[in-house]
Parts: sequence; structure tokens; C-alpha cells
Amino acid sequence: MFRKFAVLAVAALAMPSFAGSVETAAQLRDKALTDTTAWNIVETLTSEVGPRPIGSASYARSRDWAVAKLKALGFTNVHVETFPEPAWIRGAESAEIVGAHPQKLAMLGLGFSVPTPKGGIEAPVVVFGSYAEMLAQPPGSLTGKIVLVNQPMTRTQDGTGYGSAVEARNGDSEAAKRGAVAYLVRSISTSTNRSPHTGWTGGPGPHIPCAALGVPDADMVAALARHETVRIRLKLQSTVDQKAVAFDVSGEIKGREKPDEIVVIGGHLDSWDPGTGAIDDAAGLAITTAAAKLIGDLPAHPRRTIRVVWWGSEENGGSSEAYAKAHAGEHIVIAGESDLGADHAYKVALPQGMPGLDEVMAPLKTIVSPEPPHHGGSDIAGLQEAGVPILAVSEDASRYFDYHHSADDTLAVVDPDGLKQNVAVWASLVYLVADSDIDFHKAPAK
Ligand SMILES: [Zn+2]
Repeated sequence: MFRKFAVLAVAALAMPSFAGSVETAAQLRDKALTDTTAWNIVETLTSEVGPRPIGSASYARSRDWAVAKLKALGFTNVHVETFPEPAWIRGAESAEIVGAHPQKLAMLGLGFSVPTPKGGIEAPVVVFGSYAEMLAQPPGSLTGKIVLVNQPMTRTQDGTGYGSAVEARNGDSEAAKRGAVAYLVRSISTSTNRSPHTGWTGGPGPHIPCAALGVPDADMVAALARHETVRIRLKLQSTVDQKAVAFDVSGEIKGREKPDEIVVIGGHLDSWDPGTGAIDDAAGLAITTAAAKLIGDLPAHPRRTIRVVWWGSEENGGSSEAYAKAHAGEHIVIAGESDLGADHAYKVALPQGMPGLDEVMAPLKTIVSPEPPHHGGSDIAGLQEAGVPILAVSEDASRYFDYHHSADDTLAVVDPDGLKQNVAVWASLVYLVADSDIDFHKAPAK
């Protein structure tokens, strides 16, 4: 660590201006490791507002809460941008095994599932061990059945296990095409906990009622179905509010030299309803906001403006397109999003090299990727499509999918040290980017 500082000191003599940025970035990093701003944001958002699904009273309340919080943290130009976004409202719901061995099942309806008739749907279950196995069934072969896809998810550090498992959550249309009357999926989760994990379901149609079962509940139905015909009664009484309105809330740290060049960072304010939306995504907005606040507290702001955005419709989708459309005319130099919890940030990626970044990241045990990032997050996908360069911070997602979208997504599963390490990564990275002249649109030097 000391040797690295010596290297920086030598660089300072050669390149006084930029090395000054590197030194400031290192100071920000060290300050962030003892700063509790991010923890305070997660704690207060999850306790004072709680779960934030679009269309709920608490989501509406999060709007004023967000404005007040960003102002209290010293951000300027704090404002709300609204856009129409249909809301799915969970109603009474249940699933139970009926017949000789009756038992209630731990379940959650999937977002945008169609409801069942009032009395529910009762039918025999067909269990598949994988989604591919269900897709291999011919049309009409599942007529009158409730399908259960009981496909386990693989635990991975980079979250790719989710990418390959989540397809099964969108399977209701494929089951319907084969004649099924309802669709059940093993929770897309790496936990053995009984809490079911919800999520958006987005097959192209036709649609049938669909829900997630707790992991052990899905295994129990599968075990029983090996020996007998299992009948399940499913009830889902959800509604959709087509006239709901979503919102993004943002605030800025104005650049001292080039205020119109904007670095956009943030996380998403909306969440699923069973937990309090702590790791998904109070943590992400807290990490990026605390990083920007630390930069804003410096004696001199960086050259470029840093804008923190709390996107308001990630889980249903919509923020990405709305934000890209509303900000098409701006000079956004780069955009980044934190939306994978708060465990150790092990890698950062930029579209091109950044002098001094390796040295600043080394004490955090964070590597600088030699590859440019491919995905920055779903709320900035619209900006990325419009040609805005992106940055990415990879966090250890090994335990994230034990809790994500379930009742266990609460403050209790946020690691305070991981949260601080993430803030240190974001604060130093974003400072370097915002204080530089690098045009990230240009192809990286080979
Ligand atoms: Zn999220």
C-alpha cells in the first residue's frame, strides 16, 4: 500500500493535474470505508417507507421521501420526472394440495400474472425437472393440467445462474400453448429457505395464472407426484391499474468546469412487495448516492456534473425507455447503475483505460477489467442503446439470489462492510471519470 502511494507521488510530478485527481480519488476511497451515509439511506428507506411496488401507497410515499433525502444530503436540482406505467396489484392468493394428502404451499403470484376465477383453479399437476423438458412437450399434451417447472438455479459469483434460470419464470405462455390451465415455477432462488421469490412474468401470451412456489414446496410437490396424482387448488386475485404513474427522482453535484457534461449514476427506487427492498435496490441507490455525496463534500467539485438517479420502474420495466427519451438531448458522458446487492465489488469496467485506476482500486481488492462492459444495468439499457457509454461495477452475487424478490430482502441481509467497500469503489471511480477529459465515445486505444 505504501509503495503504491510512492508511485503516485512520482506520477504527480510528471502529470500534476491528473495525478491530483488520482490522489483525491484515493482519499475519497479511504473516507468511504468509514462513512455511514449509505447504511443510513438503506436503513431509513426500508424502515420509513418499506416495500415499494408501483401502484402501492408506499411507492407513492417514496416520492416525497426521495426528494427530501436527496435535498438533505446536499444535492442540487433535485426533481421528479413522471411517466405512465401500468401497475400490477397483488390480491388474496393461495396454493394448496387437495385430496388425500392436503397441505398449504408457500407461494407468491408472479407480477402481471392474470388472476384465477374467484373460486380458484383446481387441476392435476404435471412436474418437469427443467424448463427445456416442458418445452419438449407437444401442443395439447398438457390440456387441463397445472404445470410445475421445478428447475434448480445455480449459485454463481457473477449472477449468470440467474440469467439461465429466469427464463422459466416467463413460461406461462408456453405452458398455455400446450393446454395448461395454470403455471407454477420453483422460485428462481439459490436458497433452501421456504420464502417464495416473486418477479415479473412476461411471456408473449396466451396467458394463464402463474405463481412461484417456495423451493422446498416445489420439491415436495415433485416428490409426491412421483407416487400419486397430485391436485392443486390455486387462487390469485390480482388486478392491474392501467392508469398508474411511475417516477424517477434525481439530484446533482454540479461540475465546476463543464457542468453540461453529465455522469449519470444510480439505482432503482421501486421494489417487489414481500420484503423491504433492501438489497434490491435500496443498496444500489444508497451506494451511488453516498459516493456522489462524498464527492460533493470535497472542497472543489470535479469538472463534470454527477447526477444521481433513483429510477422508479425497474421491476416492471419502463424507467429505461422513459429516461433515455426524456434525456436524449443531453451530453451524458457515461452512465452506470448499481443493482446487485452490496457484497464485495470485485471488478470495475470502463469503455477505455483510465490512468491511475488500478492503483486506486488495488487496496479494495477490486480489479480493473481489461474488457469494456457489456451491460450496465436495466435502467440504463435505454441510454446504452442510444449510444451513451457505460461503466460497470461487478459485485459478488453469490448470496444475492438467496434473498432477492423474497420476504428476506431486508436490512438484515445487507453487509455493512460490503456496502462501504462498494461506496469506496464508486466514489473513487466516479470522481476520476467526472474530473477527467476522457471522451468515452471514442474507440479505446489499442
Ligand atoms: Zn433490482
